[in-house]
Amino acid sequence: MPSLILDGKSLAQSREAMLKKSVDKLMAAGACQPVLATLLVGDDPSSATYVQMKVNACARVGMGSRKIELPASTTTEELLAQIDQLNRDPDVSGILLQHPVPAQIDERACFDAIALEKDVDGVTTEGFGRMAMAEPAYGSATPAGIMTLLRHYDIELEGKHAVVIGRSPILGKPMAAMLLNANATVTICHSRTRNLSELVGQADILVGAVGQPELIRADWIRDGAVVIDAGYHPGGIGDIEKTGLENRVSALTPVPGGVGPMTINALISQTLDSARAKRAAKNR
Ligand code: NAP
Repeated sequence: MPSLILDGKSLAQSREAMLKKSVDKLMAAGACQPVLATLLVGDDPSSATYVQMKVNACARVGMGSRKIELPASTTTEELLAQIDQLNRDPDVSGILLQHPVPAQIDERACFDAIALEKDVDGVTTEGFGRMAMAEPAYGSATPAGIMTLLRHYDIELEGKHAVVIGRSPILGKPMAAMLLNANATVTICHSRTRNLSELVGQADILVGAVGQPELIRADWIRDGAVVIDAGYHPGGIGDIEKTGLENRVSALTPVPGGVGPMTINALISQTLDSARAKRAAKNR
């Protein structure tokens, strides 16, 4: 039987239509336009493309954006000063600091300087801690988008063995916490994991987030698994090899068109949530 394709592109499109209506409604009720501020440091072309895709998504749903571009020589102090300004700006609903930043910058310090209520990309330590404790918080955008995709397709998580490959602060770790909160039994693998292929073979739900093309081999994956590939490499290649999986696993995300559009969707959806929260606080 052909595998179910977890179509992030079409889900993101339909969710954008709903978001647009919500933005219109919020503004008709007298609220200011939700605005996402994007911070891009340096001249990495992929990062510039990702930022532009996020700015374009804001425009599609009627939200504003403010694009701030800083030179590759920017210091931690200069970036912190920018973030401080955006934190204090009442017109800014959410702040996105595009990862990665140049090596001389203390990225963690800069992420953590983002005000919790504007952390719509879910990158702060405090936001992560709150999310892990199942307290209200904006989730890290990529895993939050993956959870929306899984929920949309009614993928059962409770009691399932979820294996997450990768433990980065913005992807693997929050992914594992979100799956745990959804009552999956979670294994996290990383570069020092000894028996990767064996653990992959035990996965009911597999999430590949390693940043290396097709590192996770198709023949490691068991029949009937749900396969989520967060990776994207030139030529439409992910972190998981797909050869022969299409008729063997129960569901899989395409690359591109799976996780990527859902990441952007989570970001803009959380920006709207932030604008709504601000409006609600004002009306109280
Ligand atoms: P990252 O920060 O480089 O982290 C990669 C993780 O993979 C690390 O935890 C690393 O382990 C682990 N790893 C590396 N080699 C491994 C190996 N041989 N065996 C097992 N684990 C290994 O990357 P990231 O930011 O999490 O991104 C992961 C992937 O997702 C990339 O392909 C990236 O392009 C993609 N991504 C997509 C989106 C999207 O919107 N679609 C957003 C963000 C990222 P250690 O911790 O031990 O080093």
